[in-house]
Amino acid sequence: MRDLGSREERILLVEDEEPIRDLVTTALRFTGFTVETAASGPEGLAQARNNSWHLLVLDVNLPGLDGFALTRKLREAGDDVPVIFLTARDDPADLREGFTGGGDDYLTKPFSLEELVLRIEAMLRRGRGRVAERARVTVGDVTLDDDAHRVWRGEREIELSPTEYRLLRYLMRNAGRVLSRAQIIEHVWDYGYAIEPSGVETYISYLRRKLDDRDARLIRTVRGVGYSLREPEPGVMEANR
Ligand code: CA
Repeated sequence: MRDLGSREERILLVEDEEPIRDLVTTALRFTGFTVETAASGPEGLAQARNNSWHLLVLDVNLPGLDGFALTRKLREAGDDVPVIFLTARDDPADLREGFTGGGDDYLTKPFSLEELVLRIEAMLRRGRGRVAERARVTVGDVTLDDDAHRVWRGEREIELSPTEYRLLRYLMRNAGRVLSRAQIIEHVWDYGYAIEPSGVETYISYLRRKLDDRDARLIRTVRGVGYSLREPEPGVMEANR
């Protein structure tokens, strides 16, 4: 028998049609999931980035940013959260476009709530190991826990503002890659929010002050390109000591 109300899985539902949103929310909460909602693409993207989710249920036709584009932005930022698309489209080409990462699924409207719940449970079962893995990222001696929204360097916990946290999370999820200021702005700041490239430098310097003091440098400046977070190399550690 299902143990109602004791689940910890958090689901984000992005759907602009209010009756469907209310119906799905009610059904998922009744099943015991924790559900939050958004009514547009940009709002959904901001919520997807600012919190950790076990699964997203995304309408495809959304105002501002469609469900496929929203998913692509998350995948580009290294987020492989499972996604179930709700689509009125039945064109196979449209559907193929949506399957960007592993573990995506879709339901064509109208769908039964029971089927949606079964698909969600199946996806969560498949992804169970990955969920815990995804919540924690470690690079060098820095650990970021997305469930707890906390960051440590070694034993020391580091307090970060929401923007600093999102910036560090993006750098850590893409560790070893060189990220341009434009990429950082696109993935860290809210969709459509205008920020000067110098704003990125400012936040990088805040992060360095909190993360890099006295220890080996993690965040490198790649001149003329952008920034990269990497495990400190032995030689670099020597130089900083
Ligand atoms: Ca819609």
